[in-house]
Amino acid sequence: MFDFLIVGAGFAGSVIAEQLARNFGKKVLIIDKRPHIGGNAYDHYNEDGILVHRYGPHIFHTNSRDVFDYLTRFTAWRPYEHRVIANVDNKQVPVPINLDTVNKLYGLTLDSSQLEDFFASLAEKRDPIRTSEDVVVNRVGRELYEKMFRGYTRKQWGLDPSELDSSVTARIPVRTNRDDRYFTDTYQAMPKHGYTRMFENMLDHKNIKIMLNTDYREVCEIIKYKALVFSGPVDEFFDYRYGKLPYRSLEFKHETLDQSVFQDAPVVNYPNERVPYTRITEFKYLTGQDHRKTSIVYEFPRAEGDPYYPVPRPENNTLYKKYQALAEARSDVHFVGRLATYKYYNMDQIVAQALTMVAKIAGTSKSELTRRAPVPVLNGAAVLTA
Ligand code: FAD
Ligand code: UDP
Repeated sequence: MFDFLIVGAGFAGSVIAEQLARNFGKKVLIIDKRPHIGGNAYDHYNEDGILVHRYGPHIFHTNSRDVFDYLTRFTAWRPYEHRVIANVDNKQVPVPINLDTVNKLYGLTLDSSQLEDFFASLAEKRDPIRTSEDVVVNRVGRELYEKMFRGYTRKQWGLDPSELDSSVTARIPVRTNRDDRYFTDTYQAMPKHGYTRMFENMLDHKNIKIMLNTDYREVCEIIKYKALVFSGPVDEFFDYRYGKLPYRSLEFKHETLDQSVFQDAPVVNYPNERVPYTRITEFKYLTGQDHRKTSIVYEFPRAEGDPYYPVPRPENNTLYKKYQALAEARSDVHFVGRLATYKYYNMDQIVAQALTMVAKIAGTSKSELTRRAPVPVLNGAAVLTA
């Protein structure tokens, strides 16, 4: 008899398993239908020995000291600040839009204060700001919106930005200085030996059993447990009672090239709608690995396939609320993670959500959890050897 059955070995499931087992002595079984732990953050060494992210680029960044300190129990870090360039009008320009983006695209030599005036002259004021189109057009006007956001968003989501919540394109700031970092969070780093190694360290405990290649629906009647934590899609859990929640999928095309460098930045975005993929990632920039070959991945957005992105728009949120009501009525099941709570969350937000849930389950506070002296999970050598 397990105290908890945990469905999904991504960030949500793994943080909860780790905490319940290590801090509260619970016996935990964590299952995943995939053949590996780590969820979408899974990475591995490919045939040529290059560390790649199977489900697209995962860059860790957070402003939460608690989240960063918590993960530091399981990994050493490699400092890394992410940079992205976009291919627009046959030019390579920084994303987010900054002073250099505008000067390069328009052949200008503006300074920061002139750029503010330039944006003001182009901006089409929108009030209220409801959609992803409103956010961008309101700040930089239609032309830059069309060059940088419209095509990319239509490809990525299969929807026009005017049909998506403002929160989607609001993830990308607009800058008037020359800062070309993709994120400005306080903590920006990559797990020194990869995400999978970090997950292995999290789940390495005598009270945690792991079963891979195991779908919840195949085993839920067989396994004996007292409570369930579910991090799969919430609509699937309730047999699509109110219909399917839309999730956006991606097809990843991985390639290894017989050259040491492929492109000029870790990620190159292709906002042009005629290009079928949205972006290309070159992994060695992310991992710092030294190798005579290089591995890249193309992302092709798809309507069908594994659910990767909840689609933020009002009608989907309304449908999710109906599932949320069902979920809240199930006191024996805890729903957590990007798919089960239908939220476009980054990894750090999922870690925070999972820690909050552990605190709730254990009847303590999240600050109490993160304050607790951590059991020394890593005796240095385990994490620092290559
Ligand atoms: P998941 O990682 O999806 O884990 C859920 C697990 O549940 C999966 O492994 C799945 O196989 C399993 N599961 C589902 N149903 C069942 C079932 N019925 N039975 C058994 N197992 C089941 N975040 C960042 O912070 N930075 C980034 O740079 C970043 N880049 C991203 C790039 C892409 C292409 C994608 C798709 C996401 C990215 N994210 C990024 C978001 C990040 O992947 C998520 O925040 C995080 O992985 C969510 O963790 P999770 O545990 O909620 O879900
Ligand atoms: N986006 C865009 N052009 C870009 C980069 C982003 O239009 O060059 C929009 C697009 O809608 C995208 C969203 O901003 O889905 C969020 O981008 P982010 O890089 O955060 O997406 P993720 O890494 O989560 O796929």
